[in-house]
Formats: sequence, C-alpha cells, structure tokens
Amino acid sequence: MHKPSKTFSEQYTDISSIAGFEHVAPGLSLQAILETVEQAPVAISITDARANILYVNAAFEELTGYLRDEICGQNESVLSCKNTPIEVYRDLWRIIQSGKPWRGTLVNRTKSGTRYLAELNIAPVLDANRRITSFLGMHRDISTLHQLEQQLKHQKALSETMLDLAPAIVVLLDSEHRVLMDNQAYKQLKAEFGTIEPVHLFLDALNDRLDQVESAPYGKFQDIQVRFDAPNGDECWFALSGIHVEELDHAAQNYFKPSSEGGRYLLLVATDITTRKAEVERSRIQHLKVQMAEQELTSSIRETLAGAIFQLETPLNVIQAALDMQHASPDALYPILRQVLESSHSAINAMRMALPKAEQGRNFLVNINQILKDLLIISTDRMLAEGVVIDWKPEPVLPALMGNEASLRRMFHYLIDNALLSLEETGRVQRELRIHTYLKEGAIWVEITDNGIGIPSKQRLKVFEPFQSGWKRGSGKAGMGLCMAQEIVNSHGGGIRIDPDYTGGCRIHINLPLKHGNGGME
Ligand code: FAD
Repeated sequence: MHKPSKTFSEQYTDISSIAGFEHVAPGLSLQAILETVEQAPVAISITDARANILYVNAAFEELTGYLRDEICGQNESVLSCKNTPIEVYRDLWRIIQSGKPWRGTLVNRTKSGTRYLAELNIAPVLDANRRITSFLGMHRDISTLHQLEQQLKHQKALSETMLDLAPAIVVLLDSEHRVLMDNQAYKQLKAEFGTIEPVHLFLDALNDRLDQVESAPYGKFQDIQVRFDAPNGDECWFALSGIHVEELDHAAQNYFKPSSEGGRYLLLVATDITTRKAEVERSRIQHLKVQMAEQELTSSIRETLAGAIFQLETPLNVIQAALDMQHASPDALYPILRQVLESSHSAINAMRMALPKAEQGRNFLVNINQILKDLLIISTDRMLAEGVVIDWKPEPVLPALMGNEASLRRMFHYLIDNALLSLEETGRVQRELRIHTYLKEGAIWVEITDNGIGIPSKQRLKVFEPFQSGWKRGSGKAGMGLCMAQEIVNSHGGGIRIDPDYTGGCRIHINLPLKHGNGGME
C-alpha cells in the first residue's frame, strides 16, 4: 500500500536533522521557527528576488492594514507612497543585490492611505551557491520617534539660537573643565583672548570664592563678581552665576544603576560688568573730588572769616577809644576817624586777598539727570535714616548741557542738602523730596520740592544773599549755599527762584539754557 509522503514540516520536525543546521540543539522544530516568525512583534515579509511578496507575518498585517491574502503575490512597492527619492531605492537595490543587508528609512503607505515612516532592514537570503533566492524584510513604524526627534532637534536649534542671542556668556563645562557647549558671546570673547581659554580665567578668579560656590544651595551660585586682567592688560569685571548638574552616565554597565561616582557639569553664565564697574568707580571719584573741593572751600572760608574778624578788631578798638574820649574836640577825632577808615580799608583788602579763587573748571557736555541721580545715590543712607521718601521724575531723554560738571554737581548738592536739612528740622512724619527734570523753551528745568519747614515769603530773596543761615540746629553752615548756587546757575546763563505759590514746604525752580553765552564758566 502506498504510504502518503510526509509534509515538509513533518519531514523536518527536528531542525538539527536538516543539512547545514546540525549545530542547532535537537528538539527545535520547524514549526516552532515558523511560529516564532509569525508571532514576532516586528513586521516581517519574505519576498522573491524581485521583491514579490511570498509571506507576511501578523505584525506586518497589523502595521500595513493588508491581509496576507491580499498582499501575497504583490510587489513590496505597493507600500511605497511614491515620496521616497528614486536614489534611495537604487541604493537599496544595489546593496541587497550585492548580497549585503540594507538598512534605511522609507516613507510607506498603509492600505487605508495613511503615511508612516518605516525603518527597514532588508537581508538577502543566499543558497549554497551564494545566489540570492529571496529577501527578508523587517520594518517598524518610527513616525512617533521621528516626530520626537524632530521636536528635540527643533528645540535644540531654538535653545542654541536663544543662547547665541543672549548678551551673557554661557558655557557648559565637564568635571575636567573642558568646554562642552558655549554660545556666540563666549566664542567672541575667546576670539578676543587669543590662545587663552577665558573660562579658565573665570575659574581661577572663582577659586578664591570656592567657599561661596561649594556651599551654594542646590549647587547654584549667583552674581559672584570677579576681576582679572585680560591678555591685552585691560582690567575685566564679570558677574558669574552657575549651577552644578550631574554628568550624564553613558556607561552601559551603569544603565540600570547609575554610578554614584559620576562627575558634575558646571553651567556657567558670565555677564561683563566692566563698564558698570568703571561707571561706579568714576562716580565715586567724582564724589570724592566734590567732597574735597567742598572741604577746601569750607576751610578757606574759615580762614577768610578768621582773618576778617582779626582785621576788623583794629577799627572797632579805635572806635571804642574814640567813644571813650567823650569830650574830645572834632579836631582830635578827625585823625581817629582817618585811622578807623584806613584800618577798615586794610581789613577789606585783606579779606579780598583771602577770597578763595573762583573755580576754573573746563566745560564739557553734562548730563543733568546723571548728576542728580548720583547725588541721590550718595544721599540714600541719609534719606533712609531720616525716613525721607524720594520721588524722582526725570525727563526720559534729557539733552546734554555744555557746562562745568563739578560746579553744577556742587550747586545741586547745596539744594538737595538744604532740602534734607529742612526735612530733618520739620516735625512731619511723612517727609518727601521730589525732584523733577523737564525740558521747556530751550532750557533744562529742575524742580526740587520738599515738604520741610519752608522759607517765609519775606526771606525768599534774602536767602540768596551771603551768610544767610536760618537753620535752627547748628549745622555749621555759613549760609553761603544758596548764594553760591545762584552764582553757579547764573554763570550757566540760567536762573534760580523759590516758588512763591508753593506753601507745603519749599519748591525751587532752576533753569539752565541749553545754549548760552559764556558756556558756564565761573
Ligand atoms: P520601482 O520602479 O519599482 O523601483 C525604483 C528603482 O528601484 C528602480 O529604478 C530600480 O533602480 C530599483 N529596483 C526596483 N526593483 C528592482 C529590482 N527588482 N532589481 C533591481 N533594481 C530594482 N519599498 C517601499 O517603498 N517600502 C517598503 O516597505 C519596501 N519593502 C521592501 C522589502 C523588501 C524585502 C524588498 C526586497 C524591497 C522592498 N521595497 C520597499 C522596495 C520595493 O520593492 C520597490 O523597489 C520600491 O518600493 C520602489 O518602487 P517603485 O514602484 O516606486 O519603483
């Protein structure tokens, strides 16, 4: 009786019995292999040498939407959305036909027409004579992954652009202090520094402040001001802020348990504050100069007055002597009066000789807002101590004025000082000093208002005369401030007056013409 021949799978139930597969451990059946391929979670297809599909697994059906009955016999090109450049296919075929595997990305289309990005692996299957019998194709949908990658790339590009546009210097360093990432501002600084890596200068300068850096909460330190000399010898000042971040652990062995021995990155942000520092220094020196000039002036006035008192004693003594000679004849009094006259002239001459020389400062373009702001900064401590609230309203853009900066500074100093003294003498709880600058009719106007003790109307003109001091507290003021302030304003072609309509304290108006004859020489 004819015995029915065994089916292919029955014949080779044990793979190890197939020629060429003897190394496979006995027990692995062909059935098991087929089921493995069938249930593999990646879309698998097997084609003939021209890419006509012979077999697809369940994952392929699920991904493409084609049932195996529909797709078997069709070419793999049925999946093409006709969007992939022809060169990619040419390359694919050149490689697989040379017997090598190809790996790449194609734009595919499901049965319903949905496009997806396929990451494809094609491997040629060779027979014993190394001829291609079929191809094995495996692909997966990487559309979401690609979308995420694109977003990441986009975000990276955006962050890099933002970093490059930032005026501050940004550098990321690894634990060995190698620069991993930097921005345009850093690259520019590096170009200026030549061979020297600027970040090493930052770190050297930071070394002195390591305690601040190391003890910074959450590894974050802020606004540490450091100074160093640039290669060209210029002094540089930078404000450094930074944060320590754990270094990424790339080592495969640390995949599940990141190593605790990993280093730390340092993200450093540096702002160039050289100009700001120079400005502060300039203003400090300017203030010192004004202070010294004032001290000199005070001591010279003291000297003059002491001399004047001494000189005036002589005529006064002579007058006293004349008064004592009650019955003296006019002839006897005549030489005495002459002596009084002569010694008075001599006293006046001596005082004139002792008068301090007028300041011969040079004129430059002066920013009145800047002068007033500097003076307010200088007076901050005093105002805080006296509970004075300042209302500073500068004209946003005030043109520069040709004038003597030191004199103008001194003039405003007198006025602000007077306002503060007046506020100190008032019993008011709410003490206000308002300074307002504005432009009107080709002149810079400054309005200084305080709600202090005020100036009585009959005193409004008199206070501009020399030696007019009305302070209750003996402040050691000679009463020359307003007189000199007026002289300085006049020398700049301007005017100063006390507002007669303001009754809440004292309001002084100063105007300084932008164009005037003598350019502000005293
Ligand atoms: P075609 O004219 O078919 O091919 C474009 C170019 O490819 C041709 O000009 C030629 O240079 C080359 N080419 C095509 N067929 C052959 C061939 N038999 N021999 C030599 N060169 C040839 N394509 C996809 O778009 N998506 C897939 O998922 C995909 N999976 C594949 C899986 C396997 C296992 C194989 C072998 C191929 C796969 N392909 C896939 C490629 C596919 O067979 C087509 O080549 C491709 O889709 C382009 O088809 P087309 O009709 O646009 O152009």
